[in-house]
Amino acid sequence: MSSMNHEHAFSFWPFQDAINTASFTTRQVLEGLPILEVYHDHEGDWQFLCGTTLNPKDGKVACMGCMVESDLTLVELANLPHGWRATRIAPGAEWVREPYADSEEDV
Ligand SMILES: [Zn+2]
Repeated sequence: MSSMNHEHAFSFWPFQDAINTASFTTRQVLEGLPILEVYHDHEGDWQFLCGTTLNPKDGKVACMGCMVESDLTLVELANLPHGWRATRIAPGAEWVREPYADSEEDV
């Protein structure tokens, strides 16, 4: 995968995590599908998912800055607690937040 050693310059970065923090996503998101499911998991890791695949082969790692740069609405989720997810039905739709059980974690 590409290195985390690159720079982002955001004028506004509300996340507790550093801009270059590694996050989990899917090949489909990296290829352009919208992010429709965001997990701030029980370990505190972020997952930015398209919701179209559960195949581990599609799992990718990307820096949070790259994810937010691709979709600035993600900053709305900066205060999502650990163990919560946010989903939406389409890009531009409202994010709906809810806590989820630890056992559901392996998405
Ligand atoms: Zn990046």
